[in-house]
Amino acid sequence: MKSNSSILAAACAAISVILPLGTSAKDPAHADAAPKVSPADALARLKSGNAHFVSGKLEHPRQTSGRRKELATSQHPFAVVLACADSRTSPEVVFDQGLGDVFVVRVAGNVLNDETVGSIEYAIDHLGAQLIVVLGHERCGAIQAARDTIAAKGEAPGHIQSLVKAIAPAVEATAGADAEATAKANELNVAKELRESEPILKELVAKGTISVVAAHYDLDTGAVEFLKEAAAK
Ligand SMILES: [Zn+2]
Repeated sequence: MKSNSSILAAACAAISVILPLGTSAKDPAHADAAPKVSPADALARLKSGNAHFVSGKLEHPRQTSGRRKELATSQHPFAVVLACADSRTSPEVVFDQGLGDVFVVRVAGNVLNDETVGSIEYAIDHLGAQLIVVLGHERCGAIQAARDTIAAKGEAPGHIQSLVKAIAPAVEATAGADAEATAKANELNVAKELRESEPILKELVAKGTISVVAAHYDLDTGAVEFLKEAAAK
């Protein structure tokens, strides 16, 4: 026969299974209860943080033990960043943000697959973020590998070929242009695919609830250029 405490433990385990990540029975706060940051305000915050980074005047905001405690049972990031895994392009540093500010998804070439899209959907649907930034960068190794592999009509070793396949449309669209053009085309392609991603993101974009923007990071200056949609072809 089960004791009361073991029944309680089983009930808690069941609750933790059905609660979405980032919430708990102690703190039922969820996306609907949190103040949301509009896409325009979120973009302004990222631009302001990047200006600190470019000027060398980092503020390192919200990185205290107090902030850590505040976030221990819930999170409400104001933006999602899908960034390249490159060690020089950490979004929290480049945008001078703190703990709990930015939901970061990283993969070489900032490409989409079920896992990256699912992670982005989670941040939007469960955590309440309303801005998605696709952040590629200058001299990206994944972009260069895709260009070189396709130019040689070859195949990249191991699973790197999956990155080549994902970046291939941008390589083909920028034949004859330089690698920066390919990187920007890839950033715009990925942003467009996210806007058209069903069933969660497309509907929210159509309602004007969320925005998806493409961006390109300059390794030399530290500046993030937000790309104009008109350039998306
Ligand atoms: Zn890269």
